[in-house]
Amino acid sequence: MRLQAEREAVAEYGRKLITSQLSTGTGGNLSVYNRAEGLIAISPSGMDYFAIRPEDVVVVDLDGCVVEGSRKPSSELRFHLDLMRHRPDVNAVVHTHQVYATTLACLRRELPAVHYLVAFSGNKVPLADYATYGTQELSDNILRAIGPYNACLMANHGLVTVGPDLPSAFATAEVLELSARLYIQARSLGEPAILPDEEMERVARKFQSYGQK
Ligand code: 13P
Ligand code: ZN
Repeated sequence: MRLQAEREAVAEYGRKLITSQLSTGTGGNLSVYNRAEGLIAISPSGMDYFAIRPEDVVVVDLDGCVVEGSRKPSSELRFHLDLMRHRPDVNAVVHTHQVYATTLACLRRELPAVHYLVAFSGNKVPLADYATYGTQELSDNILRAIGPYNACLMANHGLVTVGPDLPSAFATAEVLELSARLYIQARSLGEPAILPDEEMERVARKFQSYGQK
């Protein structure tokens, strides 16, 4: 089987999307890029995450042509490929419908640096204009909005995160759900303080040596 490890990771992290409450039903999708082989493993469209086995994960090339797998790839294949093509630092893409981040996206608001963990994205989480799911227009809007950030809200839809690997992109989605929730709760009581750009840059540098290396 081509890209066995990547297909296993997509199946495993798909289940985590649901158990971590970052998506419901068949919403959201995820992919991993093996740059050495020039191939991408992406979740199948509209399948129950708990029914997805590694062989259901679809392997495509950078043009989106199916190389292995009998399932239809995610309807959001376009923006997964475009992000990997335009960002040499990106080997994984996670798209969710997580409730608090999507609440901001429905209000068409960015998420400012209300908590230091927003540095997983950058000094904020930008917002992409609305376009119908699965379209080139949506992909163009995401690419325009995300720039060098590791995440981007999608108006009236959800969130997309990117990273060097799937655990990183997934962790970014998780911390941004906490951050969006804190922002909404803080706004319900008053006006939260927003961390300045210099502090967010300091935090981002510190993250490079965080934890057990
Ligand atoms: P897929 O099941 O085709 O990946 O679509 C889910 C989704 O979230 C569309 O934006
Ligand atoms: Zn979606």
